[in-house]
Amino acid sequence: MISEDTRELVDRGIMLPLMEEFYTIQGEGFHKGTAAYFIRIGGCDVGCHWCDVKESWDAEVHPPTHVGQIVENAVKFSKTIVITGGEPLTWDMTALTSNLKKQACDIHIETSGAYDLTGIWDWICLSPKKIKLPKPEIYPLANELKVIVFNKHDLKFAEEQAAKVSENCILYLQPEWSKREEIIPLIVDYVMANPRWKVSLQTHKYLNIP
Ligand code: SF4
Repeated sequence: MISEDTRELVDRGIMLPLMEEFYTIQGEGFHKGTAAYFIRIGGCDVGCHWCDVKESWDAEVHPPTHVGQIVENAVKFSKTIVITGGEPLTWDMTALTSNLKKQACDIHIETSGAYDLTGIWDWICLSPKKIKLPKPEIYPLANELKVIVFNKHDLKFAEEQAAKVSENCILYLQPEWSKREEIIPLIVDYVMANPRWKVSLQTHKYLNIP
């Protein structure tokens, strides 16, 4: 059980439930291949059945950590920071991102967009989920749209989502990992027929890195 004082700091985004942090190579989307420091924040109630980080869902099991500490750890490794989860926008990202900006970091977020957008971002990767759609305000701000494809219907969903983002937003289709053998041929055919889309693969899983 965390104290009321700590809970209040978490509610204000001064402390955040930190699940893990690690320096690695971004495996997905536009920045794939780029070294980056990942900060994985606990807490998500979107509930994707194929989620590969279900252990992130319960924020209570991840220790509330002061954002100053998180930033201090991060900048020892990299100025390119990826904030992920869980769903990081469960929390107020203002304090964390302001502190990272003071250290001249380039800050990326991976989000479903299901909650209010807080924080200062250099790159927004929006990965919408059917069961809890993004807030309308985030669509025009997305730099990349990454739709996870689990079945054929997800391609229709992808087009519906692409209609809401800006024309500069880069569009990616990414196979859900457990279905990749079945889905990759579908995506390959779709991207060749609809070349405004690109393929994104979870290359970190092929590289066997986190
Ligand atoms: S939004 Fe992300 S973290 Fe949350 S359930 Fe879906 S895949 Fe998992």
